[in-house]
Amino acid sequence: MARYTESVCRLCRREGLKLYLKGDRCYTQKCAVDRRAYVPGQHGQGRKKTSEYGVQLREKQKVRRIYGVLEGQFRRYFEKAERQQGVTGENLLLLLERRLDNVVFRLGLGASRNEARQLVRHGHFTVNGRKVNIPSFLLRAGDVVAVREKSKGSPRIKELLERASDRIPPAWLEAEAEQGRGRVIALPTRDQIDAPVREHLIVELYSR
Ligand code: SF4
Repeated sequence: MARYTESVCRLCRREGLKLYLKGDRCYTQKCAVDRRAYVPGQHGQGRKKTSEYGVQLREKQKVRRIYGVLEGQFRRYFEKAERQQGVTGENLLLLLERRLDNVVFRLGLGASRNEARQLVRHGHFTVNGRKVNIPSFLLRAGDVVAVREKSKGSPRIKELLERASDRIPPAWLEAEAEQGRGRVIALPTRDQIDAPVREHLIVELYSR
């Protein structure tokens, strides 16, 4: 499957805000958004005007990049969100939040969503006691996510477990950091998602 392999810091600079794609580095002075706060590329410092379509497109790209989802999959999330009851834009964000890689990240068991995704793919986590290595696995209320016992010996997992208690999970998750475990107390609501997103613009884009 195609994956973005260029510098992810360029993505943040393109969107004009920190997307926290690199983990620890994002919290240091090395962050590229702090050092070069303009769009990358030859004309990056010259471009200013954006059409209505451009604004909608940027919002969609931003959300895709925050959650690390490819276009086709993002479209499928949107179609699913449309079929659900309620506000489509909110449904879309709630679906993305329920992804296993996002929950692992929110629990502090990955320094970034990228790392969380890789750890899930490598089979380091269980859901309700069963190994799950699908980053897009959608969690439900009551599900328990845990680091596999045999993975607790991995140096990187050990380091993450030691630091996990520093991360405060959102109210819809309950974390037992030292045990490498977390539970979905209830499905998230829009006000519990801190992503700086204007989701109605994505709905407008796909409704064109
Ligand atoms: Fe984005 Fe992190 Fe790179 Fe800063 S360091 S530009 S927040 S990925």
